[in-house]
Amino acid sequence: MAKIAIVGAGQAGLHLGIGLLAGGHQVTMVSNRTGAEIAAGFVTSSQSMYGMALGFERELGIDYWQDGAPQYRAAQMRAADSEGNVGLFWQGDMEEPGQSIDQRIKMPRWMDRFEELGGDLIIADADMAMLERLAASHDLLIVASGKGEIGRLFERNPARSPFTQPQRVLALTYVHRFSPRPGKPAICININPGIGEFVSFPGLTLDGPCEIFTIEAIPGGPMDCWGEVKTAQDHLAVSERLLRDFFPIEAERIEGHLELTDDKAVLRGRITPTTRHPVAALPSGALAFGIADAVCVNDPITGQGSNNAAKCAKVYLDAILAHDGPFDAQWMNATFETYWDYARYVVDYTNMTLTPPPPHMMQILKAAETDPTLARLMANSFNDPKAIAPWYYDPVEADRFLSERAQAA
Ligand SMILES: Cc1cc2nc3c(=O)[nH]c(=O)nc-3n(C[C@H](O)[C@H](O)[C@H](O)COP(=O)(O)OP(=O)(O)OC[C@H]3O[C@@H](n4cnc5c(N)ncnc54)[C@H](O)[C@@H]3O)c2cc1C
Repeated sequence: MAKIAIVGAGQAGLHLGIGLLAGGHQVTMVSNRTGAEIAAGFVTSSQSMYGMALGFERELGIDYWQDGAPQYRAAQMRAADSEGNVGLFWQGDMEEPGQSIDQRIKMPRWMDRFEELGGDLIIADADMAMLERLAASHDLLIVASGKGEIGRLFERNPARSPFTQPQRVLALTYVHRFSPRPGKPAICININPGIGEFVSFPGLTLDGPCEIFTIEAIPGGPMDCWGEVKTAQDHLAVSERLLRDFFPIEAERIEGHLELTDDKAVLRGRITPTTRHPVAALPSGALAFGIADAVCVNDPITGQGSNNAAKCAKVYLDAILAHDGPFDAQWMNATFETYWDYARYVVDYTNMTLTPPPPHMMQILKAAETDPTLARLMANSFNDPKAIAPWYYDPVEADRFLSERAQAA
């Protein structure tokens, strides 16, 4: 039995901590907020999750919302200008349903489960001195602090981080009076080329089912207009205006006016997509091992971060349970590389969506309009961006793949 400390009680930290307790290890977790504070706070994510990641939660018996929360079984992508002239549209079914559970519901419930299993939950904002104490008193220190400042102790890896600036200005909103799209519930990705994106899907929040959407504005463009927004109601009004001005087809879903699900159902920010070295030496020389967003954070445009956190937790959990010996830098780097073998596809998948699309990507997306099998493959890529390698990521492979599909038709 190893003694393991985890800093950060979010998607990755709690998933890993609960798995380690179930596996017979002793776990200390540090959270800078209590469950009650998380529940009473602002929304933190849109957290759309798909089959593989939800399956890892199911393995641990912590998918408490499987039956009670809205599910979506399709994905659709539309590119259209501000007048609603559609340049691209495809829709495909997902093999397994997606779900979004407000982290204000999920994390407090998981914190309770962590304690029920005998985990030691400490409420503190961990600083370097605390990391040193935890490293000295445990066999392994894991930093699962998400976008928290303490994660800066992991050095940026420029070879794996093509951007030095945020690529989008983000505005997240949980609403009522936004009717479900006609047909199957779906994750809807709407692109207004050169201006930004609008992504929506059903979710479960504090007062029940709702619609969750994120507006992704290209910096400096007409949707990058959040400077004067102070209140949640200002945020809602700007969101509704942007929806009507730049996504008129989606705006048809507004029933009169949008309503917030609660007065903390908004979030604004910007993220610089960054991959870091996963191992950091503390001043004493003791090691910290980073997980999920702390060491590999993406823009939420493709809805991958919570999925990545669950998948990273699964890789680390399996590696710890299989390990017999010291958790040294070699083990940490090898464990992260196992995760990176998957995560590098997510990074490319996401970054290709943030930048003007390369010609081969446009050819694939256009082909999906008339090829239902390809549309299904693209819909399922939200669950597993590695499954569409190599052809989605490489122009030569894309050519080969598209000619094979044309011959098969
Ligand atoms: C607008 C937006 C929309 C998103 N939409 C999606 C989506 O649709 N699908 C998807 O998969 N992902 C989405 N994400 C990303 C997803 O929410 C994150 O990637 C995911 O929560 C990361 O998990 P994590 O465990 O690494 O970090 P987190 O879940 O952020 O958890 C980190 C925890 O550590 C705590 N912490 C930080 N510093 C300290 C400290 N010093 N001491 C103690 N505790 C500390 C934090 O308070 C937090 O509770 C979205 C993100 C944003 C911003």
